Amino acid sequence: MSPRIDPTPAFFHPDQLAFKPTYEWAFGERIDHPETTARAESILAALRDLPGIDLREPGEMPLQAIAALHDPELLTLYQRAAALEPEETLYPHVFPKIQRGKGDPNNLHMAGAWCFDAGTPLTRNTWTAAAWSAACARSAAQAVLEGESPMAYALSRPPGHHAQADLFGGYCYFNNAAIAAEVLRPHGKVAILDIDFHHGNGTQSLFYDADDVFVLSVHGDPTEFFPFHCGYADERGEGKGEGFNLNLTLPAGTRGGEYLHLLKQVVLEALHGFGPAFLVLSAGFDGYEKDPVGAFQLTTDDFESIGGVLAELDLPTVVVQEGGYYTPDLGANAGALLTGLR
Ligand SMILES: [Zn+2]
Repeated sequence: MSPRIDPTPAFFHPDQLAFKPTYEWAFGERIDHPETTARAESILAALRDLPGIDLREPGEMPLQAIAALHDPELLTLYQRAAALEPEETLYPHVFPKIQRGKGDPNNLHMAGAWCFDAGTPLTRNTWTAAAWSAACARSAAQAVLEGESPMAYALSRPPGHHAQADLFGGYCYFNNAAIAAEVLRPHGKVAILDIDFHHGNGTQSLFYDADDVFVLSVHGDPTEFFPFHCGYADERGEGKGEGFNLNLTLPAGTRGGEYLHLLKQVVLEALHGFGPAFLVLSAGFDGYEKDPVGAFQLTTDDFESIGGVLAELDLPTVVVQEGGYYTPDLGANAGALLTGLR
């Protein structure tokens, strides 16, 4: 007889599909936007097929939690963008080196002061989708905290790990993983492990001076890959947070064996040394071998193995969806990770 496994709560709100970025500027080219609603639909289909998943909507937009984490001007900017015309897409086009303050967040011409790249648009639905995406992370953390299940999954789309307190970018608007961590933090130390192909610069910045939240990120070499300006090994935290930030980079073409070796030899050891009460897993799947954005060679089986390795930690775990842009297999990859974790 197999042991009974509690259903895993999974959170998604249909209004997250209202945000439909169509194009972005990548290296000066106008390309189809990779962060599509089809990503969420691929994962939803996989979750419905996966046994033991309790898929539901998050209770409410966590406006207080968002405001506690992010600059109020950023919220004003998104709310102003909510008045854009239905067909309008706003890309910031001036990125000032700040000398006189950021300016007026009600003036969308100044939006570049709150943005760090040319890939992350504002539309009238950005605010709603991003707030519900954050709600998924908060509800998943609450479900774990309340002991409902040892693991919960937030289908957070748009993703969050690049969002800083006062900056959006990297397709991210609110830092969903940080919102989950803030729910757990009063109840014990939190480790945030980011396995997205890209460095989680936003998450790093939000906890850089904290000693009760350890941020670890395994990612593609930032000398070659977004976000370029951070994600290096010498970024170890500051003040009392020194030593509680760990960046591990891997070269393009990294395969499952090398990835799992790093996870077992370095990440697990660092996590054991820290002794967290909770794990927040920033789960990006753009390290997948077919992903058009990332450049590792991970397979669907590798994601299940990654989940299996992390399950050895035996920690209450909140899985927060980040990137992953090969839509046909995104759901299978997310399902494989959850299966490994369970
Ligand atoms: Zn990514």
